[in-house]
Amino acid sequence: MRYEDFYRRSIHDRDGFWAEQAALIDWQTPPQTICDYSNPPFARWFVGGRTNLCHNAVDRHLHERADQNALIYVSTETGEECTYSFRELHAEVQRMAAALQSLGVGRGDRVLIYMPMVPQAVFAMLACVRIGAIHSVVFGGFASVSLASRIDDARPVVIVSADAGSRGGKVVAYKPLLDEAMRLAQHQPSRVLLVDRGLAPMIRVEGRDIDYATLRERHLDASVPCEWVESGHPSYTLYTSGTTGRPKGVQRDTGGYAVALAASIRHIFCGNPGETYFSTSDIGWVVGHSYIVYGPLLAGMATLLYEGLPIRPDAGIWWSLVEKYQVTVMFSAPTAVRVLKKQDPAWLSKYDLSSLRALFLAGEPLDEPTAKWIADGLGRPIVDNYWQTETGWPILTVANGVEPRGSKFGSPGVPMYGYDVKLLHEGTGEELTSPGQKGVVALEGPLPPGCMQTVWGDDARFVSTYWNSFPGRMAYSTFDWGVRDEDGYYFILGRTDDVINVAGHRLGTREIEESISSHPHVAEVAVVGVADALKGQVAMAFAVPKDAASVATPEQQLKLEGEIMKVVDAQLGAVGRPARVRFVTVLPKTRSGKLLRRAIQAVCEHRDPGDLTTIEDPLALEQIKALVSPA
Ligand code: AMP
Repeated sequence: MRYEDFYRRSIHDRDGFWAEQAALIDWQTPPQTICDYSNPPFARWFVGGRTNLCHNAVDRHLHERADQNALIYVSTETGEECTYSFRELHAEVQRMAAALQSLGVGRGDRVLIYMPMVPQAVFAMLACVRIGAIHSVVFGGFASVSLASRIDDARPVVIVSADAGSRGGKVVAYKPLLDEAMRLAQHQPSRVLLVDRGLAPMIRVEGRDIDYATLRERHLDASVPCEWVESGHPSYTLYTSGTTGRPKGVQRDTGGYAVALAASIRHIFCGNPGETYFSTSDIGWVVGHSYIVYGPLLAGMATLLYEGLPIRPDAGIWWSLVEKYQVTVMFSAPTAVRVLKKQDPAWLSKYDLSSLRALFLAGEPLDEPTAKWIADGLGRPIVDNYWQTETGWPILTVANGVEPRGSKFGSPGVPMYGYDVKLLHEGTGEELTSPGQKGVVALEGPLPPGCMQTVWGDDARFVSTYWNSFPGRMAYSTFDWGVRDEDGYYFILGRTDDVINVAGHRLGTREIEESISSHPHVAEVAVVGVADALKGQVAMAFAVPKDAASVATPEQQLKLEGEIMKVVDAQLGAVGRPARVRFVTVLPKTRSGKLLRRAIQAVCEHRDPGDLTTIEDPLALEQIKALVSPA
């Protein structure tokens, strides 16, 4: 079929198109209304339908593939390697579900999951959706302050966590960070369920902390039926950064998400039941939710859960796993490829990769040299895809499952079915239709199935954050600049807001600034994202100390810089740590007091800072220029 026809139908015969896609999953009660958009911008998909994500990801496959691999676990950190068939996964999920129920978790309750990459994290996610509870996974790299703000927003009944993760052979204890987060949080979950990996000692809080292994023993034969929920029932929330310091809980439904993911595996990722999918992401990110856990399992594929680095024990580890488990679909991020690029390219051809159909990359811009290097090295197609935590599945890519179509280097591709993508003028909201015109990438409502329903607990924030960017027009803003060529391929040109992307991880500069400002010696700070050859971008901080004498010597500066980094590590996690903290006496601001972040960024990247007529103190930028000058 021609992709153009497929796409057009998804927009112009929306209900007919998605009614067909809905048949990719099991419904206990079929939907009556495909899309209810009577209250824009809130779209309700598959209204009247009742289903269950866990049933579709696990139980449904028991007839045909009970003994096939469902979850393959490899940790090059602990040396553990094991597999779970669909039957075994089914049993483990029920044990976890029974354990959660015994702790009082029921339909609609939130369960916060703060876990390293271990199978129990996947069991916990599936167990939650099985019983109608709403999971909220917090990336294990986040530290206590980030975690506390998410605890307070999600208000979980139970937290599932572990003693520790491990990175590059170094144990990262989770429990002390969790305890500190619980001390900071106002909301106190009644129970903490702990997986003890034997990596780090844990101090248990009497009456609150429960050992999962012990509880699991009590529920070995558990049979916990799937709770059929309305299509619109929230399956999970996942926090993401924006321009404010307060992260937003992206709320996802059940039916729309299941249909969208099942359809994407077929049309975009070209995965088939019985095959193996390997996503190198983390369950704490949206890619982990969609393409480690739910997508592959919904499609009856085995999913490979990997804990470790791409270059340890050697740079061939991922490819050895592709060979061993006959991976057909792989998903990673450009940063990981740039890490591999520093290693011997011979690793790419050491193993038999003939099972691999394509490598999908997303999360940040894919530069041409990186794409070419990996495509040549692997001899396999590389498919870029552009999307966001909010959308849950790709907005722009190529749907080779519908019609094989070439990729263009530098472009993630064309709009995916269901996404009415427009380029809009930032100031006027006018649609830009000519090739080569730069505009904001926007989506006309309704957002397709699988996209966020709202901001958890804050419908008004959903509307004001995403749908109010363009005068006289209600369209969803991605906050990305884009341009389209004459063939309809889009190119992403960076964010329109103060969000930065470090190694594919989205971070709000405000969050980092707030953390740095909490240091008693810091009066003010500006954080900007600066281009980096490996990570895409890194955070750079410019701080004004309360007392200039405290940073009079280079030694003092280094000392304070180190202290500030420690504060960020403890509060946000190493993921938020700026590459450098430099000290200045004043920050470049407009006369009305607005930080000139773009000018700071330009100076750091040795570009022209542009129009500076509104700057309060031109010397402020000169100071930064002197600090970052290559000489
Ligand atoms: P996140 O929600 O953390 O996945 O971040 C989403 C943001 O990452 C997008 O708004 C883009 O700025 C960026 N992004 C994701 N995928 C791509 C891609 N393939 N090319 C360029 N930028 C991307």
